[in-house]
Amino acid sequence: MTVTNETKEKIDLKTLSASELSVFAGELNLQSFRADQIFQWLYQKGVSRFEEMTNLSKDLRAKLENIAYISRIRLLRQAESEDGTVKFLFHLADNEDYKIESVLIPDFYDDGVVNRLTVCVSSQVGCVFGCEFCATGKMGFFRNLSHGEIVDQVQYINDFCEHRYGKKITNIVYMGMGEPLHNYDAVTESARIITDERSIDLSPKRITVSTVGLTKQIKKLADERQPFNLAISLHAANDEKRDEIMPINNSMGLGELKEAVQHYYAMLHRPITYEYLLFDDFNDSPQDARELANIVQWVPSKVNIIMYNNVAGVELKRAREDRLDRFMKELIKHDVRATVRRSRGDDIDAGCGQLAIKEGQAKGKSIRKN
Ligand code: SF4
Repeated sequence: MTVTNETKEKIDLKTLSASELSVFAGELNLQSFRADQIFQWLYQKGVSRFEEMTNLSKDLRAKLENIAYISRIRLLRQAESEDGTVKFLFHLADNEDYKIESVLIPDFYDDGVVNRLTVCVSSQVGCVFGCEFCATGKMGFFRNLSHGEIVDQVQYINDFCEHRYGKKITNIVYMGMGEPLHNYDAVTESARIITDERSIDLSPKRITVSTVGLTKQIKKLADERQPFNLAISLHAANDEKRDEIMPINNSMGLGELKEAVQHYYAMLHRPITYEYLLFDDFNDSPQDARELANIVQWVPSKVNIIMYNNVAGVELKRAREDRLDRFMKELIKHDVRATVRRSRGDDIDAGCGQLAIKEGQAKGKSIRKN
């Protein structure tokens, strides 16, 4: 990247990483504190026009205007559930047909005071992995989000929380549309920005990145000592059942996943969380629980048992309460640390991808054969 007067194409500053932004400022002969100021305007205040950068001189703002621009996702629709969950549907600046979803999941104390404010963000428009139970998987893949588009979602919802609750968001999970580790660079850069004290300044311990189990990228997270938490969308505890509902398992089975997870733990000594959607009469038997308990032995881990939000057109259904009880008893018998997560926002299609499909998101490519 070289900034010259002859630069024809304007640069979208939100596509530059934090270090590239410093280089950009250096090439304009700006002092490093100017780069910090620009970074803050982009990622703390969320401006989309240079004229809003009021602590920069008029000349500098005009110069920036000539060679660069600032993209920003736009809110299309917002829906609020009776349980307080808020779903945001955005479209991207370069293509209004590309829609992405983010969800705010507030947690309240018994007296109604807000406790945790968790944001679930998207990392891609659609997803190539075609998991059987997932609305996003059904739409196929369109494109990766840039780190700027990921941070925009967080920033937008952080502003919403400051207005609504008088406090900033407390947790982020990368569990919205897309497979985060399939967009590794943008995801890790967005997490770096969100944890930067010149931005939202969230502790990396409060960030969880989820994956269907991309083993090469899991090892890369470990080797690079990425500081956030890792969750694995498991959803079935043997290869046969996992092959059936998650096409990725056909090429990266549980044996390979075990090796990656053990490498991750050996490098970082950080426990793993397994996400396990409980489907009625599919993966909810005592035998399934025992197989899950075996996986939990690979490295220190905990399990979130998630009660599935039924999705139109998907045969798998949410497990019944009596089957959940039986499953949990079996896990407890095997000393598994497990928590049941009730689905939130059923009345607003909060399951990832549902709203975008309703809004007419087209179909992209997928590794699923049918
Ligand atoms: S569950 Fe995740 S990886 Fe699977 S299709 Fe949905 S978004 Fe993609």
